[in-house]
Amino acid sequence: MLINKWSGNTTSQVSLADDEFGKLYNFCCCHKRIYVFGDGKIGTGLKQYLINTELPFVGCITSSNLSVFRAQYVKGDVGIIIGVGDKYIQGILPSLSGFIGNRDVFFLTSEKREFLGKHFAFDYVREKFHLNVFVTNVCNLHCRSCSTFAPICKADNYSYEQFALDIVKFESLATPINVLKFTGGEPFLHPSIFGFFSKAREVYPEIRIECYTNGLLLSKLSDSQKKILNAMKIELTITEYPLTNLDLSAIYNVLDKHAVSYNVIEKGKQKYFSKRPLNFDNAVPKHLFINCPRYKYYSLFLNNGKLYKCTYAIAAKYFNEYFKTNLSLDDSDFLILNDVENQTQLFTFLVNRIPFCGYCEPISELVPWGLSERKLEEWS
Ligand code: SF4
Repeated sequence: MLINKWSGNTTSQVSLADDEFGKLYNFCCCHKRIYVFGDGKIGTGLKQYLINTELPFVGCITSSNLSVFRAQYVKGDVGIIIGVGDKYIQGILPSLSGFIGNRDVFFLTSEKREFLGKHFAFDYVREKFHLNVFVTNVCNLHCRSCSTFAPICKADNYSYEQFALDIVKFESLATPINVLKFTGGEPFLHPSIFGFFSKAREVYPEIRIECYTNGLLLSKLSDSQKKILNAMKIELTITEYPLTNLDLSAIYNVLDKHAVSYNVIEKGKQKYFSKRPLNFDNAVPKHLFINCPRYKYYSLFLNNGKLYKCTYAIAAKYFNEYFKTNLSLDDSDFLILNDVENQTQLFTFLVNRIPFCGYCEPISELVPWGLSERKLEEWS
């Protein structure tokens, strides 16, 4: 039963970075002290972003304490970033234009202001939050520039026993989950994947549960396994690849016949992948972290007793083993699940920059999909 389908290339397009935060960064670098006008959601979001990037942020200004700012304002030294919604801007400009130089005021687009306002607001994060369960880094496809490094990883399966403990612990945090997504690698290569499904359904009887797959093994599912998928309401999210040896329409017919729910990420005429170059000196400027698509998807990855923001941090050790690189993981690049006591810890980790972000250059190009040759340049 087809639930939904969307274009994989459109999703990849979203991951492309633009230079707006670069312009904000340049503005901040031209000033000794930076203020934000506004202390509502947008103002607070901007403040949090500036603190994450260690730019010379001093404080938030509002109409009520504008005189404080005016007294400390020095043309060219002090800059102010507008941190309010569009409907308020016309109201505040007259109070600023009386004394401040044009070069000392910076406006982000309303899209970016709204994004920052929501991104650092925990009520929004709670509303959008979903949990990825990274069950295995093993894959049977090996795409070029794979974001889980699967083509070059030593096999590492998340143990079912550890997952059974972790998912109960996670549930005890009472964090609302919109959807729980099993992902990898290729989840159907994990020998206990159906155990994972049933444990997740036992702990979360009502929520949406999805399993991301490249579809290569679906034709091998037994009728009883398809019955289990239907009975436990596990939705398959199938990413289509331009493969000649896979008849996906036949697989969709079989899934329809067994009333198994599925989504399709369409390949389109030419499938593209977003390529993220790694900076092996960990020297990516801090202000660029917010360009990473992981900061647009309000989710964490559960794997072997830890919570990660992304698969790069999970698989870095295998990347190092294969390419003799030195991507080093800091203790603040992940959360140890048993040390997490509440949602605030989770969301604080989710929305703020981690040290590992210093390895990730912004995504600036989409590359035609292809199989990996296990070459370093696929990731650099
Ligand atoms: S380390 Fe940071 S920038 Fe890199 S993929 Fe993870 S969240 Fe994104």
